[in-house]
Amino acid sequence: MNVKRLPPLIPATESLKKANTLVFNEEVFKRKSELGGSIEVVCGSMFSGKTEELIRRLNRARIARLKVEIFSPKADTRYGENALVSHNSNFIPSTPVENASSILLFASDVDVVGIDEAQFFDDELPDVCNVLANRGVRVIVAGLDMDFKGEPFGPMPAVMAIADSVTKLQAVCVRCGNPAMYSYRLVANDKKILLGEKETYEPRCRTCYLLGDR
Ligand SMILES: [Zn+2]
Repeated sequence: MNVKRLPPLIPATESLKKANTLVFNEEVFKRKSELGGSIEVVCGSMFSGKTEELIRRLNRARIARLKVEIFSPKADTRYGENALVSHNSNFIPSTPVENASSILLFASDVDVVGIDEAQFFDDELPDVCNVLANRGVRVIVAGLDMDFKGEPFGPMPAVMAIADSVTKLQAVCVRCGNPAMYSYRLVANDKKILLGEKETYEPRCRTCYLLGDR
């Protein structure tokens, strides 16, 4: 796709010319959506502010009078139905769906699709994101990049690979105060999916994660 050959939608200032080279610059997305949509990923450990960042981007889209829809997997029912809640209790109503392909059924005639807790979706999520983006939709996907074992979580690595932009957020290590990228599980339970908050997980840096309970 050669953006330069198309006539500018808005007067080209020096800063806009510069912005054309940066796909993660939000101002560019308006232009990109005219051409073919996009996929943005916001990932990181627990307590890294992923959902807050998703809500921030969606609110900006709403202010721009774009039609926004938000989806979350039915598996994640920590906060009850129909609510996208971040840890600081900012919330936006979301539609819980059974699987990734259901998003396509619900997301007709929208400009922006937000997907929260994306790590709990099935392996069809990357294809669903591509279908939407190719239709001209801006897709914003938020989720945990790693599980408590430090392994890539569900469809997240595949979505990150096909994304236009990936933002990896870090929490603060509760042990030493350095930037944290791991979600350390505080309870003895080997299940991959164990819903919980501060009593179940804490953010840790690499060093403190490897130290474990010592
Ligand atoms: Zn640490």
